[in-house]
Amino acid sequence: MSSASNRTFSDLGLSKWLVDALTSMAIRKPSNIQSACIPKILAGHDCIGGARTGSGKTIAFAAPILEKLSRDPYGICALILSPTRELSLQIAEQISALGTSMGIKHAIVVGGMDIISQALALQNRPHIVIATPGRLADLIRSSPEIVEGFRRLHYLVLDEADRLLTPGFADDLDECTSILPPADKRQTLLFTATITPAVTQLKDRPDVSNRLPVFMHAGPSASSIAIPATLSQKYLFIPSHVREAYLYTILTISENEKKSAIVFVNRTRTAEVLRQTLRLMEVRVTALHSEIPQRERTDSLGRFRAEAARVLIATDVASRGLDIPTVELVINFDIPADPDDYIHRVGRTARARRQGESISIVTENDVERIQAIEERVGKKMEIYDAVTETKVIAESLQQVSNARREALMNMEKEKFGEKRNARKKRALLEAGGGGHRKSRR
Ligand code: AMP
Repeated sequence: MSSASNRTFSDLGLSKWLVDALTSMAIRKPSNIQSACIPKILAGHDCIGGARTGSGKTIAFAAPILEKLSRDPYGICALILSPTRELSLQIAEQISALGTSMGIKHAIVVGGMDIISQALALQNRPHIVIATPGRLADLIRSSPEIVEGFRRLHYLVLDEADRLLTPGFADDLDECTSILPPADKRQTLLFTATITPAVTQLKDRPDVSNRLPVFMHAGPSASSIAIPATLSQKYLFIPSHVREAYLYTILTISENEKKSAIVFVNRTRTAEVLRQTLRLMEVRVTALHSEIPQRERTDSLGRFRAEAARVLIATDVASRGLDIPTVELVINFDIPADPDDYIHRVGRTARARRQGESISIVTENDVERIQAIEERVGKKMEIYDAVTETKVIAESLQQVSNARREALMNMEKEKFGEKRNARKKRALLEAGGGGHRKSRR
């Protein structure tokens, strides 16, 4: 956690109760983003905070909101939107740890949990609502009585704003902001690991800009684009059909066998194949992706946090903003198409000045993607040479390939992915096209 000055949280304008609550979480010295943003938010500015993951951005917005709320607690004062359920739950944890002593109530509104109890929770007028845009938009449509509660809102926070401002979220986000007071009657706080053009443009948009000028904290330096300095980025160039065996070997060689690791993949199906294969090879593994029901997703993350599982297989649903402090190794089993996703993935390690390593498994199909990533990051990756072809062939190729075959057979039996295929088919039929085309995938 980098901190530039000797200022304390009290110097930034926080009351003793809040400083005490922070101290009880072992948070004693403000990080850069906290020093920069807390006084500005308290003074009423809108704010765009560029901060790498693990920089303390949640507290940079939560602390001033709680400070103001404690002085004048009323109905729904703040709405915090984030792109994923897990991130929302994590923000809620920090808010609850900080605000409970002052009786500050929050409600969580995310998909995968009971929508009726969420509507009821909103009618109980919590002070802070932490939501994903999709579920809040659903609630606005299905329970218009909740809308009234948001009329006096003062803070709108968009966490991982770069992601929230992509077209996939646009309709839901519009629905959510349509029930809030206009931008000049509230404060809008945007936090993002990568300052994309969509984020910067917001600075000049009348529906975002407050009466006071927008305060922009660009983060450490635009060229280092949120890659921690303590991260060593490696790659391994291999044919695609032996990736599983290499992955198993990387995870189990003596220098890595005790490390907690996240393995990122691009598809839910790959995540499931790897989860089952590695489990058969007796690696303590769990998974996080959108085909897993919400309760199990939370359990998976809990098991990984508690170190009951050493390896987490995840799609990009897990790559954003999740606070999993013990990860020492990130492996990109698939290379993401979007360089920003790479930045978010590798940002899971080397947090808070710890050392960390990322290993990207590069195949003949990924060369362009790697070049785009290196350009975006401004740095070349180094070759990972701890695992050799001889070692993989001698020690794991055959066993891993048998385990993978068994995993695929299990998935066939469990009918993995059928629900999603059925959903896709329904959507196609509803859209009036292509309903009868047969697909084997
Ligand atoms: P975030 O960037 O909000 O995901 O925070 C990452 C982690 O850093 C969380 O576990 C926080 O509790 C912790 N943290 C936040 N601010 C500080 C600070 N000033 N000093 C030490 N740890 C912090």
